[in-house]
Amino acid sequence: MDLLEPPDTASATTDLILRAVAFAAHKHRDQRRKDTEASPYINHPIELAHVLWDEGGVRDPVVIAAALLHDTLEDTETSWQELRGEFGEEIADIVLEVTDTKWLDKKVRKRLQVARARHSSERARLVKLADKICNVRDLGTRAPKGWSLERKREYFDWAKEVVDRLRGTHAELERRFDEVYALKP
Ligand code: NDP
Ligand code: ZN
Repeated sequence: MDLLEPPDTASATTDLILRAVAFAAHKHRDQRRKDTEASPYINHPIELAHVLWDEGGVRDPVVIAAALLHDTLEDTETSWQELRGEFGEEIADIVLEVTDTKWLDKKVRKRLQVARARHSSERARLVKLADKICNVRDLGTRAPKGWSLERKREYFDWAKEVVDRLRGTHAELERRFDEVYALKP
């Protein structure tokens, strides 16, 4: 075998991940996070993928790609059909599973996330776990501009409610969440 030529599966995985990151970067190109520095939005999906890979040891390319794409349905004009066309139904469905229903009131959406968590697929649960780890970490290091102490505390507790319903999915990622939750202000 030519050592310079990676096996086909490795090429296909690299191709999928690069396409997912490029697609997400393009879709989120005009968006910023809510921190005072208004960080580029794409940092967040990349962080999720990194947490899954590096801290969770997750090697399933479908999960990594779904993490990179996880906010495209919720926060950009992307449709499920478009995701299916680009990445296949499996990935489009995971992204849909982690997407809040936009037209619902914020409070209702947040309750629904708690209620739906337990019934999510294993892959969607991994993406959700990473999302909660990253957002709660962000609250500690680069919190949204103008958030009161009370609001941050509410967010920590709500994230924990979701994670408590995902328990049994991935012990190490759950431990990482508990570690960051312990820093609740
Ligand atoms: P959001 O849930 O919209 O804001 C948090 C979300 O913003 C995160 O889940 C994350 O979502 C995204 N995000 C972007 N930048 C950051 C960052 N730097 N750090 C962390 N998260 C970031 O909060 P809402 O404004 O909708 O408020 C939700 C609830 O809070 C409501 O139910 C409301 O009742 C309550 N509230 C409480 C107040 C209080 O003072 N106690 C005041 C106002 C509202 P993603 O991963 O999708 O990007
Ligand atoms: Zn997110």
